[in-house]
Amino acid sequence: MAKQLLGKEVTAALNERIKADVAALKEKGINPTLGIIRVGENESDISYERGATKRCETLGVACEKILLPADATQEQVLAAVDKVNKDDNIHGVLLFRPLPKHLNQTEIENALDPAKDVDCMTDGSMSGVFTGKAVGFPPCTPQACMEILDHYGIDCTGKKAVVIGRSLVVGKPAAMMLIKKNATVTVCHTRTVDMPSVAREADILIVAAGRAGVVTKDYVAPGQTVIDVGINVNAEGKLCGDVAYAEVEPIVDAITPVPGGVGSVTTSVLVGHVVEAAKRKYL
Ligand code: NAD
Repeated sequence: MAKQLLGKEVTAALNERIKADVAALKEKGINPTLGIIRVGENESDISYERGATKRCETLGVACEKILLPADATQEQVLAAVDKVNKDDNIHGVLLFRPLPKHLNQTEIENALDPAKDVDCMTDGSMSGVFTGKAVGFPPCTPQACMEILDHYGIDCTGKKAVVIGRSLVVGKPAAMMLIKKNATVTVCHTRTVDMPSVAREADILIVAAGRAGVVTKDYVAPGQTVIDVGINVNAEGKLCGDVAYAEVEPIVDAITPVPGGVGSVTTSVLVGHVVEAAKRKYL
């Protein structure tokens, strides 16, 4: 049986550090606050927002929401970004993406004050992930994957890591973060030829394809650590990952479940960034 890499164990350790930082800020009269901008009523946005709001509450971080209709204009969304930029009481901002298609997402993302860019929305922050220079914050989801590896003492140095998925939000930055940890990294995508044999070579397999159950037993081998980033809803309406857990788990060494894996860590990473943004400004 594989070792389960449980989000709640990683989150418990992260939360202790965050709570200590929140206490230090509050002693100085600073109330760390997350600004949330949501355009429209996308179900997965609302569900993530609920989780983030709850986690903020637990950790003593305030939330301020700006909710706009799905048909909001470019000017309305830019005005919302301008408002949070100018509000000294908001330290970090979460903007749900992708934005509705009629909006110019790049312009809106780059309008955010880099100091408040806690989810790597601006080009400047993303460049920091690729250049290795400390600019802003890394994206929360791939950082959550790294937090899991660190928490369970999984050393990446010299290991073969395979990332499935090349999105700018997860796959590409995850690959850069693994390189920083001295892994030898291969990135797979929809055009990869014979992906199962590439994936079987990995010591560490990070899966972010956004396709339920795409990683079957043919993709894995004994000794591997598998991090499943996927969040999908299966035919029975249940949450599931990109990994066919039931058939993969008996083969590999360690695996994250879905739900209960990367998702819950991502939320704490986000709140941690908000608190860090406040610390950078005031402490
Ligand atoms: P995306 O759709 O933007 O990108 C998916 C990537 O996977 C693309 O590069 C695509 O080429 C590749 N891909 C698609 N099908 C593939 C296949 N069959 N084989 C190989 N590669 C394939 O998705 P994303 O934003 O990167 O998110 C990936 C998954 O992670 C989604 O399920 C999403 O819901 C989930 N997600 C989870 C969290 C979290 O906190 N756990 C956060 C963000 C996204």
